[in-house]
Amino acid sequence: MNQASPPTPFSPARIRETVQEILSAGSLPPIVQAGHPVLRQQAAAFDGQLTATELDQLIDLMRRVMHEAPGVGLAAPQLGIPLQVAVLEDKFDVDPEAAAVRNRTPLEFLAVLNPQYRAVGTHAAAFFEGCLSLNGLQAVVVRPERVRLKFDEPQGLPAEREFTGWQARIVQHETDHLQGTMYVDRAELRSLSGNAEYAAYWAEPGIGKARAALGFLPGFPDLPKH
Ligand code: ZN
Repeated sequence: MNQASPPTPFSPARIRETVQEILSAGSLPPIVQAGHPVLRQQAAAFDGQLTATELDQLIDLMRRVMHEAPGVGLAAPQLGIPLQVAVLEDKFDVDPEAAAVRNRTPLEFLAVLNPQYRAVGTHAAAFFEGCLSLNGLQAVVVRPERVRLKFDEPQGLPAEREFTGWQARIVQHETDHLQGTMYVDRAELRSLSGNAEYAAYWAEPGIGKARAALGFLPGFPDLPKH
């Protein structure tokens, strides 16, 4: 099993300075890649390290970086900020068959602080996923199909909400980032594929072809019929 991620060594003041530097840069910050230590640390819970205005500006910046990438989620550590803030949004036009197989429905923009999830029920789903901090790669990850997320809203109120299907996958992926976990930690490593190879061989709504040919998840019970 993997080691637990160490907590960020950043003080509240250093976290705020890091955010202020990024906000004042005048351009979109780069997304840090695997190997950067911040991606392997537990981010600090948000507890007022930023002013309300700074937090709003950070969330707006994260939204723009997510759109520019483009992606369906972004966690603050991916900008080098060890703080438990994530943004999620999925409004992509998806092929109807893929949307049905993956249970992928549009997710309105959502910003969450200090999120924690737990599985609801025992149903699991297995699909390829990628990460903006692991450019050019995809791998299959088995995840709970439904989760309940506890989080704080940017205005500070505690909230709880359930997510299913692809939305639940996004929620888990981004929440994991805030604990120093990346999707490859949970992935079926024999499925690991470069984007070009994925497009050439395994681009289908489900994972059936890749599973048989690459040799992973031999006993998984809940695969879509594709
Ligand atoms: Zn990611």
